[in-house]
Amino acid sequence: MPCRMCRTKNVTVSLPEYRIKLCDDCFIKFYERKVERTIKKFKLADKEKDRILVAFSGQKDSVALAATLARTGWNIELLHINLGIEHYSPRQEEFVKRQAKLLDLKVNVVNIKKEYGFTLYELKGGRPVCSTCGLIKRYVMNKYARENGFSRIATGHHATDELTTLLRNWIGGQIEYIAKQSPFLPSSHEKLVAKIKPLWNTTEKENQLYVEKLKIPIFEDKCPNAKIIDYSPIILGWKKIYPKVPLEQTLLNNFLKIKETMQVDRMRSPYNECSRCGEITSGTICTFCKLIENAKNKK
Ligand code: AMP
Ligand code: ZN
Repeated sequence: MPCRMCRTKNVTVSLPEYRIKLCDDCFIKFYERKVERTIKKFKLADKEKDRILVAFSGQKDSVALAATLARTGWNIELLHINLGIEHYSPRQEEFVKRQAKLLDLKVNVVNIKKEYGFTLYELKGGRPVCSTCGLIKRYVMNKYARENGFSRIATGHHATDELTTLLRNWIGGQIEYIAKQSPFLPSSHEKLVAKIKPLWNTTEKENQLYVEKLKIPIFEDKCPNAKIIDYSPIILGWKKIYPKVPLEQTLLNNFLKIKETMQVDRMRSPYNECSRCGEITSGTICTFCKLIENAKNKK
């Protein structure tokens, strides 16, 4: 079957949620356009002005992110954080350096043991290790980006990740996290660099396919600490019910709209008392009094 886009090469990728079937090359273009559109839609960055620091783990998502940004002409460098996890971090750092060479990108490495004197485990105290790891990464990324003149930090969080996070925070009642969840976190302080998630509209499966088609090797070791609850059965179950809907993106973007509506609602001006009748109004004269006035004028 010929590809829907070029109509010459054979179909190798089927994307039922978008009702299209593409060849390898057209899938690569399709993916890159989608990321460009996401950046534009949410005003994540400006090609002329922004220097982007890509947080790079060497796993498929940050590899997809770095590759797509580089191939579409963004000004980027990579930052890899070595957390000092035995049997894991040294292999990861080696791998990341080889990937950066293949991608022809500059990779910066911060080794927290060398830089701050402690490994992840030495820093964690009584906290859960994954939350300490997240905290260290956010700290290091922000400090490194600011001190080295980057205007954006990009991470490889994708739609499937974000939907999972949303469900986890919803179930856990972590409303303050839900309130903050967004493809763009603007700088709210002069020492904070804005954070962006350009893969907000691509799924895990699309990232996987993209790096496969580009033939970039991926660091596949599992972090020894990862014991995140697996939400994939829920998402896959929904996908079976709605095979022709881009499920993660639809849920996420409708979630953003709900959030916007609620914020608008909260920001509504406080009520006043109508200057005519004294009932509640958001203006000075209530709509009911205006109706009465109109009716009287028509008499
Ligand atoms: P994760 O929390 O492991 O799913 O990672 C989410 C994102 O954080 C990745 O897509 C990367 O952009 C970034 N990241 C994770 N680990 C590292 C690391 N060791 N160094 C730099 N960035 C990382
Ligand atoms: Zn094609």
